[in-house]
Amino acid sequence: MTFSFGEETDFVLGGGESSSMIEVSECVICAGPLVRRKRALVAPFLATRIWNRAPFCVDLVQCKDCAFLFYNPRLEYEELGRLYRDYRKEKYQRMRHASEAWYTPKFNFDLASSASYGKRRAILKPILQRHLNGRR
Ligand SMILES: [Zn+2]
Repeated sequence: MTFSFGEETDFVLGGGESSSMIEVSECVICAGPLVRRKRALVAPFLATRIWNRAPFCVDLVQCKDCAFLFYNPRLEYEELGRLYRDYRKEKYQRMRHASEAWYTPKFNFDLASSASYGKRRAILKPILQRHLNGRR
């Protein structure tokens, strides 16, 4: 999750983990051209979890071809590992809840329910079908 942060460009390192994110110049889905939409603040949970540092700004970019919106730079493999280590287990849930009050143990548990998967599938299905060209 990101938060709008105007045109602020602070990028202050302050934690124990180094940031080595990957700057991309094309869409990570379809390789289309990108347009910079705005500056955004990395969610406090992510900044703490991945880099053990205060939130910082990144570019929010959008693909001109498929409209996919994502932040740039992207996470390195090691950073993804730090984010998803023990994903949704008790320590992960507590750490996330400390930054995001809505991420309760019940919310975390309910994410794995068939009802939750069904809702997410219903949202993603029409989006993905536009790009599958008849494939299932
Ligand atoms: Zn694209």
